Order: sequence, then structure tokens, then C-alpha cells
Amino acid sequence: MLEIVDHAWEGRTSTGRADELFQQHRKEIYEDTDRLFGRFMAIQWVGGILFALIVSPHTWVGQTSHIHLHVWAAIFVGGAISAFPIWMTRVWPGAVATRHAVATAQMLMSALLICLTGGRIETHFHVFGSLVILSFYRDWKVFIPATLVIALDHFLRGIYWPLSVYGVLTASPWRSVEHGAWVVFENVFLVMSCLRSIREMRFIANRTAALETSERNSRQTFEEAPIGMAVIGLDDRFRQVNTAFCKMIGYSEEELLSRSPVDLTYPDDRAETRRIAAAMLESNAHCSAEKRFVCKNGEVLWAMRTGCLIRDGAGNPRHFLIMVEDITQRKKAAAALQEAKEEADRANNAKSEFLSRMSHELRTPLNAIIGFGQLLDRQNPTGQQRGHLRHIIAGGRHLLDLINEVLDISRIESGRLQLSLEPVCVSEAVQEAFDLMRPAAVERAIDLSVQPCPELHCYVLADKQRFKQVALNLLTNAVKYTPIGGEVTISYDVSNGGRLRLLVSDTGVGIPAEKLSRLFTPFDRLGAEQSEVQGTGLGLAVCRRLMEAMGGSIGVESIPGQGSRFWIELPRSAPAFGGMVLRSVGRFRAPDANNGKRSILYIEDNRSNVMLVEEILADQAEMELIVAFNGESGLALARQHTPDLILLDLHLPDLSGPEVLTELKSDEIMRRIPVVVVSADATTRQIERLKAAGAHSYLTKPLDVEKFLRAIEEAATPSEETKECVAA
Ligand code: ADP
Repeated sequence: MLEIVDHAWEGRTSTGRADELFQQHRKEIYEDTDRLFGRFMAIQWVGGILFALIVSPHTWVGQTSHIHLHVWAAIFVGGAISAFPIWMTRVWPGAVATRHAVATAQMLMSALLICLTGGRIETHFHVFGSLVILSFYRDWKVFIPATLVIALDHFLRGIYWPLSVYGVLTASPWRSVEHGAWVVFENVFLVMSCLRSIREMRFIANRTAALETSERNSRQTFEEAPIGMAVIGLDDRFRQVNTAFCKMIGYSEEELLSRSPVDLTYPDDRAETRRIAAAMLESNAHCSAEKRFVCKNGEVLWAMRTGCLIRDGAGNPRHFLIMVEDITQRKKAAAALQEAKEEADRANNAKSEFLSRMSHELRTPLNAIIGFGQLLDRQNPTGQQRGHLRHIIAGGRHLLDLINEVLDISRIESGRLQLSLEPVCVSEAVQEAFDLMRPAAVERAIDLSVQPCPELHCYVLADKQRFKQVALNLLTNAVKYTPIGGEVTISYDVSNGGRLRLLVSDTGVGIPAEKLSRLFTPFDRLGAEQSEVQGTGLGLAVCRRLMEAMGGSIGVESIPGQGSRFWIELPRSAPAFGGMVLRSVGRFRAPDANNGKRSILYIEDNRSNVMLVEEILADQAEMELIVAFNGESGLALARQHTPDLILLDLHLPDLSGPEVLTELKSDEIMRRIPVVVVSADATTRQIERLKAAGAHSYLTKPLDVEKFLRAIEEAATPSEETKECVAA
């Protein structure tokens, strides 16, 4: 509604403004033409007198000569005709009466000149010429008095004094009609021309008004924008700044217009600002980057600056347009958060450290409790003693499970979990878990079965031990929480091309919908602690963390009283190539616990090359290395970890290096990761080809250690914004 009202208002003001512009233009034309006629009539008067003096200065009566009547007529009649309109053009330029007086006088002047030349037919052209000059007014109405005056003059003089108008003693009355008809003929075209000019003037006025409105709107939008905006010339000077920018930076508009943005830039950010400006000049990309301004009061303002280069119609750079958002507070909200996070991380690490030490300490006495308990059990205790011993052993095992799971969780949370990601044959791993679980299932008369995997050799990228641990945990729960005689089934879903789903279904007690959200919370047993079933409430919490650490996911569907179906999902992988194992080196980077480290993925099939790079990076505490021994695994790891840098060998056993590069560069997320090619192929052609395909840089083997470290430092350093800029 508001918009409609706005447009209606704009439409009205625009029409009113168009009318105003039109009237103003027409007034200027009337006044200019009046002034033109003022000068022209004066010259014409003097010209008439000179003509009379030259052509017929004297008249003779016998021997006596007198000044010819034509001379007196040129002086006095010409003066009488011209003086009044000349005066009017001075006093009332642009008035209706003035141009009508001019039109009338101009025709009378034509009549006088025709008379002075004795009705010479050539002088009649003065009439036509005068009409053309009158059309300068672009007011067709001036032709009415002009036509009437000249027609009446010819008619009357044609009857009473034909000699003065046609140069003959007698003239047919039709001659006046013929002259009048020629005047009307010319008038038709002059009127058409006037009407056309008026239409054009209206069109120009409408367009100018529309342009003015649009310009006003743009200026208002710029002026009133809630974020800082500025136009910067190619000479690096402010051309235009809006109120928000002035307020933000503390300078007035005048002060800013006499300065360069570099003057206001924090000294450390100047080089980067210049570099971004140069990059914008080279490409058409817009650029967003954080930078610091120094305000008038000396305070430092953190800003998110987005800029672009504006070009003219011919594509030549015109100026930069920048938008500046004050992010000082956000930066301070972020620094505090970072500090709090670091503090929390420190506390978490301390907790994990404590837990892992305690767990270690607890294992030793537990070893004695469970071990000696089992020994006593074998020494024929009495029935009552046997019962007590079972309690001791079960309690000890429970405590051991608890310790193991607490240790797992604390390892994952502190980022100390070592994962060896490799292609794992799912059916093999599941069969192993199944075999381990079978005795417990038999004991509880549970029908435990596995449906065959739809694909013969189905691999996922996972840590085999941890994968088995998760599968075993789900199976244990299914058997534990299913009443005697129930069913537990393992099945597969391969319908999602890139991922494999393993499902564990049971016909157990099920889980009420309102408790599902607490399922993965450590120590929350959802009420099972009141049952006979033993447990710690940690198993599923560990499973979820392990799955996420391996780039997978876990979920459940359950109907109370009917059963539950737990599932886990992992990225699929090609089988390991030539028996080579894919492994991770150093600490595993859990998504929320990278500890500020930068990760490097090295895709290389040669073990000695890998060992060399491991050695080189051994001293770089802030870097972690992940290794893939073939292209497919490299791509899977890149997808999973989004490392900060990829080192790529060109001769891989499955895919070629350029193929891996193309695949990386075609992925929306992976394309941002800088790729440094490390190859023995040092030909210029190859280097250029790889760089054109998107490689960040190219290092040749044998590696120069200094160069290598410099290259990875440089490639892994750019900020996100810079990366985006380069990518754009
Ligand atoms: P617990 O050691 O208690 O089994 P988990 O973390 O493995 O701990 O499971 C958490 C809780 O989820 C269990 O205590 C139980 O209440 C519920 N639960 C897990 N699996 C099943 C299942 N298959 N059927 C019914 N409830 C289950």
C-alpha cells in the first residue's frame, strides 16, 4: 500500500515538474526570439532607410529636386512600425502581446518594403522570410495576426494602389487572393513545424523530470542508507560520502572530500587495501574484506568493507563504490567469545587429562578385582559365595566399561582421538561384530540375523576398529533391550549413492518419542537404570561422537512396545588400492576441536615422499598432516576434513593428479582449498597447465625444504575473504 502511495506521489511530482520544465523552456524561447526580433527590426528599419536613400534619394518637379517621399516613408513610417514592438521586446520580453505586436509590425514592415521597391515581386519574399523567422517562437498563433495584416494590406492596396504592391497600374482582385493563398500554404508547414517542436519540448521535459526524480531517489537512497557508503575516484580521493559513513568515522563530509581513504586506513591495513583496489581494477569481482579505519577521535574502527568498481558504458573504470559496516562491537563479541572458548577448552582439556589419569589409575585395582574374582570363582566356592563373586565380577566389568567409555569421550572432546581412516569392507566388519555378539544373543534366545549386503564389495571410509565398536554397541543395546525370544536384524541401505547406511532393528521395548532427544546425552539412561538391564548411559554418546569424527552420522526410529531401528551412515569409498593403507598422521581434528591447527592433506602414493614430508612438518606444531595414498581416498578425505591446504602428487595409482585437481575445483566447497602440486615433472608446459587448471603453486621434486615450507605457509595463510576474492 505504502509503495502504491509513494509511486502515485512520485508520479504527481514528476508530472508537475515536467510541466514546470516545459513552461520554463518555452518562456526562454519566447524571450530569446523577442530579443532577436528587437535587434532584427532595428537593423531592418535602418536598412529600409539606406535602401530608400540609395535607390530613390530625390524626386524632381521640373528643375527642382526634393527628397523622395520614399526616404521620408522609410524614416517615419518604418520608425512608427518598428519603434513600438522594439520597445515591447525590451519591456515585456516573452509576453503574448509582445510577440503578436512583433508579428503584426513585421508584416507591416514587409508591406512598407514592397511599397518602397515599387511592388517588386522579389521583395514579396520578405513576407515569406519573416514568417519563417516568426516560427522561431514555436507559437503557431502568431501566424494569425501576421496573415491577416499582410492579406488585408495586399487586398486594400491591390484595389486602391496596385502600383505599390504589384508594380502595375491595374491588378486583378484575384491577385491578392493568390498572394494570400501562398502565405497560407507556407503557414500550414510552419504551424506543423511549431506543433512538432512543442511535442518534442514536452517529451524532453518529461524525460528530464523522470531523470531528476530517479537521480533524486538514488541520491536519497545513498544518503539515507543505514550503512556507510562512499564513492572513491580512481585518483584515490573521496568523491561522495553518506551521512552514515561520516557518523561512523567522525569526519564531516567536507573533511572527507579533501582526503584519501588511505589517510583514514589503519597503517597496518594500507598495503592490503591497495592490493584489493588493484585486484578490483583487474577483475570485475566485488571484494569483501575486514579492515580498520582510524576515526577522527583516534579510535580504531573495525569495518566490513565491500567494494566494487563502477565502469562507464564503454567499460572504462569510473570509480569505486564502497559499503562500510561497523563491526567493532562484533569483533569485541567475537574476541570475548574466543577467549571464553579458549578458557572452556583449557578447562575441558584439564578435565580430560584428569579423567584419563584417573581411568588409568582405576584400571590397576580393577584388574585385581576382576582377575582375583574370576580365580576365586574357579576354586569351587559355596553357592552363596558364588553369588557374591558374580556381583563382584559384574560390578568390576561395569566399572571397566564405564572407564573405557569415559576415556573415549574425553579423548574425542580433547581432540586426541587417533583415527586411521581407510576403506573398510562393511560386510566383513559387520560379520566380526555379529560373531562377537552371537553368544549373548543365544543366551537370551534372541534371533540375531544379518541380511546380505546388496553389493558384494561395499566399502566405507572409516576407522575399522571404531566402526566395529559402534556396530557392536548398537547390537549390544538391541540384544539388551529386547525381551527374551525377540528378533534383532542387521540390514543395509545403499540407495543414497555417496553414503552407506547400516541398520540394526529390534523387536524390543522401543523408546517413547519424548525421550528421543535425550538419547545421545552422556549418562542419561532414559529410565533404564530402574530396570535389571546393566549399562552406563555412555554407549550411544560415544557412538555419536565417533560417527561424527569419521564424517558419518547416527539416528534412530522407534515405536514404543514394537521396537527400535538404529542406523549409522558413512561416506562410501573405493577399495584400498594395491593393499596400501590410508592413514591419518598426528592428531585427528574433530569438527569442534581443531585447536587452531591448520591441516594439510597430502595425496601421494610414494611412501618415502610421505615420510620426508612428515619429517619436514614434524617441527611445525601448528600443522597436522593427513595422508591419502590414492586419488579417490584423497578426494574423500578432502570432502570430509576440508583441510586448509592440499599437496598433490601427479602420478597416483588410480586417478591422475590433474583429474583430482579438476574434481576438487568443480566442488563448491573444495574449490576454495589451495592446491600445491608436488611433482617431479618440471616442464614449463605441465606447470602452466596445472596452474591454469587452478593449482595455487607448483613445487618440483627433489624438494627444497626452505622453498617447500615457504610455499605451504603462503598457500595455507590467506584469510577467507582473500580466498573468496581470489576465487571470484
Ligand atoms: P546404556 O549403557 O544404558 O545402554 P546407551 O547410551 O547405549 O547406554 O543407551 C542409552 C539409553 O538408550 C539406554 O539406557 C536405553 O534406555 C536406551 N536404548 C538404547 N538402545 C535401545 C534399544 N535398542 N531399545 C530400547 N532402548 C534403547
